[in-house]
Amino acid sequence: MKICKTYEIEGRVQGVGFRPFVFALARKFNLNGFVYNNSNGVYAEIEGDKSNIKEFEFELKNYAPPLSRIDKIVADNALLKNFTDFKILKSEVSHSKNTPISPDMSLCPECLKELSDANNRRFGYPLINCTNCGPRYSIVYTVPYDRANTSMNKFKMCPECEAEYNNPLNRRYHAQPISCTNCGPAIKFYDLNGFSTEDNPLQRLALAINEGKIVALKGMGGFHIICDALNEQAVLNLRDRKRRKTKPFAVLFDSLEMIKEYCDTTEYEEEALLSQVRPIVLVKKKKLCVLPDSIAPNIDRLGVFLPYTPLHVMLLKMLKKPIIATSANISGEPIITNRYEIEQKLKNVIEAYVDFDRDIVNFSDDSVLQLIGKNTIFLRLSRGIAPKSFKTSYMCKEKILALGAHQKSAIAIFNDQNITMSPYIGDLENVKSIEAFERSIDTFKRFYDFTPSLLVCDKHPGYASTLWAKKQNIPIIFVQHHYAHILAVMFEHNISDEVLGIAWDGTGFGDDKSIWGGEFFLCNLKTYKRVCSFKPFKLLGGDKSVKNIDRVAFSILYLYKQNPIVAAYLNSFSKEERYLLEQAYEKDINAPLCSSVGRLFDAAAAIILKQKTVTYDGESGLSLEALYDKDIQDRYDIIINENNEIEYAHWFLEMLQDEPKIAASKFINTLSALIAHIVRKYEKKVVLGGGVFQNRTLVEKTMELLEKEHVELFLPQTISPNDSSIALGQITYALNNL
Ligand code: ZN
Ligand code: ZN
Ligand code: FE
Repeated sequence: MKICKTYEIEGRVQGVGFRPFVFALARKFNLNGFVYNNSNGVYAEIEGDKSNIKEFEFELKNYAPPLSRIDKIVADNALLKNFTDFKILKSEVSHSKNTPISPDMSLCPECLKELSDANNRRFGYPLINCTNCGPRYSIVYTVPYDRANTSMNKFKMCPECEAEYNNPLNRRYHAQPISCTNCGPAIKFYDLNGFSTEDNPLQRLALAINEGKIVALKGMGGFHIICDALNEQAVLNLRDRKRRKTKPFAVLFDSLEMIKEYCDTTEYEEEALLSQVRPIVLVKKKKLCVLPDSIAPNIDRLGVFLPYTPLHVMLLKMLKKPIIATSANISGEPIITNRYEIEQKLKNVIEAYVDFDRDIVNFSDDSVLQLIGKNTIFLRLSRGIAPKSFKTSYMCKEKILALGAHQKSAIAIFNDQNITMSPYIGDLENVKSIEAFERSIDTFKRFYDFTPSLLVCDKHPGYASTLWAKKQNIPIIFVQHHYAHILAVMFEHNISDEVLGIAWDGTGFGDDKSIWGGEFFLCNLKTYKRVCSFKPFKLLGGDKSVKNIDRVAFSILYLYKQNPIVAAYLNSFSKEERYLLEQAYEKDINAPLCSSVGRLFDAAAAIILKQKTVTYDGESGLSLEALYDKDIQDRYDIIINENNEIEYAHWFLEMLQDEPKIAASKFINTLSALIAHIVRKYEKKVVLGGGVFQNRTLVEKTMELLEKEHVELFLPQTISPNDSSIALGQITYALNNL
């Protein structure tokens, strides 16, 4: 029997080869009709034998292209039209722009094969791509995703590329960045003395790297700064020139085999490394790893990743050794995306670079994650993942823009049932980052035809995002920082009942105006109650304590100043410093109250590692983890006072006398035991959020203890525990409280 059916398909179905897939299926089952892209996704009308249509439908749902994600298919019966063939029709342009933009994708196996096949016409073409791989988000000015709306619009396709582009059965059918040596962007080598050439640019770059020079290479969402990872002097020069003392550098390897020469990887880590996203994965360094210590000083892990652009593949093939590949920027600023900024800002850092003339419209950094068994902890959600969108069931007319926090900024929007999160923007500490933040908002407005009717932001009056919101003349909802952390994870796991939310991080504006960051909330989607927290201490010098971690230790231990061991510790500070800190403490001068667990990690690192300062976020946690010994089961005493405040000064007193390894292990054991202890009291689902839970060892130990408590534990899995998820929590709050 002949029938006709219509299909509305929503999700990530544009720019991922969906229409040719429908075309090929229709052919396979001898069906007629048409398919096209519209503002909601893909629309098709299919006519033919009933049983064939049934099979068509099955394959449509089950064998969709690798980069696609179907959120919804609405199928309906229609009147017979007696189509005589099957056609892919022109996109329907409309005003509502709801279709998610695909993130950038790493080089696919087929393109990789063609790249190294001397008989292929794209042999050695450094910008090879197809419908299954290559740039997307990074080249798009606006939707719909057509070549004219991308930075490829200035390149006219050659006849051969055009034929591929127009053939629905070709892998490059409507691959917007399609190009080849004859018609596409070209790569060019530059040195900083004004010399440039298109003659063997990658060979020249490889030579410079081999000579120990520091160079830059354009990647997908920005440039990388690169040097030989085996050349200690080059790594030290890079640290010196970038004034980056200890923050680890990521290392790019040619292959998994090469990674395994230097690091121990688990099966799940390998899977993540090889995945389409090609993230940076933090893995364990081998005991006898010959890579210079200066790549990741004082920690036992290394951020490693595999090539994701054809340029990476070709460069590493020439070098046959690992290279440092770190986001090109000035410390604290967003990643650099064009050669003018490279020349201007990195003139004292690099000596040469390779660029190509396909412009990066939207920046993104590499995504970073680590694994506990098969559980993922995202440290940064960006290239390959963001923009990340969720289809929700919320019916809400408002168009909501959530502005996130201040550190690790990322924004999110709600528009017609969809929530979309931006890539990681950076810390909103300087003009450049705030510009990038505003640019991200503009990009989202353009992409999604979006004019916010409601803003959501953090309660912190000093955050750049809050200040921005207040200037807009749009209604604002304010959400407490740590509650937003928990709400983001509740959204992720679709939880709507009451939970015990544990939000631990470095900082956040508390309802009592003190600095929070060690919260135990009983909460649901509408409201929260702070049922337990850490006893506040004085953060001497305010924000200065964040870098000068020994001040936190000083402040906590000052209570015991009569104790000879503490007295000896306090005397290790210089006379002037001690006087200053004592004055601050006694007279409450610039000594705001703080109860954050992030700062307790700092105090522990200051005491255990005899360290005065840290230079990057998370350093204390990472160096304590490096000392952690699984076989040590001891911990400090857990005391919760009558105000439901956790006492901890005695931990630090004991810590002064413990061996470093024992102290670090006891500290982390105590924090997990504390969670288990409080969880036992409430018998609720447990939700963890906040930057402290980026600490792999703490999370692993906590999971182990909570398993025995038989509670349901929810961790951020597809979003990060850190402040980049705050915007998602803020939107969740708005949607439930309007
Ligand atoms: Zn490909
Ligand atoms: Zn061409
Ligand atoms: Fe936070």
